Amino acid sequence: MDNAILVVNAGSSSIKCALFVADETRESQLKLVYHHDVTGIGTHCYFQVKTAEGSRLLKQELAQLDHQQAFAVILEWLDKYATDLKLTAAGHRVVHGGNQFTAPVVIDEVVLRQLEQFIPLAPLHQPHNLTPIKALQQLKPHLFQVACFDTAFHTTRPPVAKIYALPRALTEKGIKSYGFHGLSYEYIAQQLPQVLGQLPQRVIVAHLGNGASMAALLEGHSIATTMGFTALEGLPMGTRCGAIDPGVLLYLLNEGMDYQQLNHLLYHQCGLRGVSGISNDMRELLLSDLPDAQEAIDLFVYRINREIGSLVAALGGLDALVFTAGIGEQAHLIRARICQAASWLGIQLDDTANEQQRTQISQPDSRVSVWVIPTDEEKMIAQHTYALIHQ
Ligand code: ADP
Repeated sequence: MDNAILVVNAGSSSIKCALFVADETRESQLKLVYHHDVTGIGTHCYFQVKTAEGSRLLKQELAQLDHQQAFAVILEWLDKYATDLKLTAAGHRVVHGGNQFTAPVVIDEVVLRQLEQFIPLAPLHQPHNLTPIKALQQLKPHLFQVACFDTAFHTTRPPVAKIYALPRALTEKGIKSYGFHGLSYEYIAQQLPQVLGQLPQRVIVAHLGNGASMAALLEGHSIATTMGFTALEGLPMGTRCGAIDPGVLLYLLNEGMDYQQLNHLLYHQCGLRGVSGISNDMRELLLSDLPDAQEAIDLFVYRINREIGSLVAALGGLDALVFTAGIGEQAHLIRARICQAASWLGIQLDDTANEQQRTQISQPDSRVSVWVIPTDEEKMIAQHTYALIHQ
């Protein structure tokens, strides 16, 4: 019976799992077998199972479920249909590791209590990340469980990159920049030597998905990133505002908006959706002739280029630019506009390579090379979990 690792990514309205099989004959060789997801938790729930190749095995509408019940649906499916696999471990995506966790960690009662202490720092995500951990502790008490953090990769940033200009007492309370999308950046950093043939000294990675951020990697380590205390900071995103004058928030509070309304506005009604008035989906905006849709794209590109300038300053120059995640991997028009605006850095795009979605999309003599590398956060979690099992 093959040993399997379940990767769990529990968000605010969905639980996504990926089941990997570890081939013990080839060290750290992990093969994806199934993808499971329950979406629409709290509203209209759907359960879906796909093979590694993407063919759908099941799509089923469910009664309204909470997170614990939704996770139980996935575990029941595994118990019933994945009978040739032995579940040996679970690796969880946990958004916040605070200052404490600079690497993945094996979960025990003490660690779980520490992770609960970070709930106020990420109230929309951390509680949901912890629900499947607790469920597995009850249902499979002997299962080896690992937490992998979105923040951990950015702990290598210098102290000055982590603090805000706030009174020290607030900084000491933990109100500082943590950075997110760390598992994606770590995966890309791991891929760079293989894909590029060497590890360039100064790299910017643009993770442009529904959530979007960028990171500056020096010798493969994060030294600066656009997200901060929460995943709201930095670039405008699908529905999140990105960097905004804090005075706007004071104004809205003074106008009578309460915490819940402000929270909903900043996380769900801003970004591409807010500016375009039609959608958070880049595909829809690219197809639209509406001036507001075009302005949403203009703003997205403009802010990315401003941040590229800032990250180049942190790195003291630039050797390579890497695009990843939904928009970064798929939207050649957006990549072309970003590279055009960054041509002052010596970026020369190869238009054909870009349109054909090749891996290297810069011309051979471009001073800064440009790449498209698909990210794989689930694989990163599976690798960390496998490594800790074998430690
Ligand atoms: P998440 O942050 O939810 O993981 P993804 O990385 O899946 O997001 O990225 C979602 C974004 O990628 C959406 O804005 C979507 O429109 C965009 N996207 C996906 N495919 C394409 C495409 N072919 N062209 C343009 N945008 C795309």
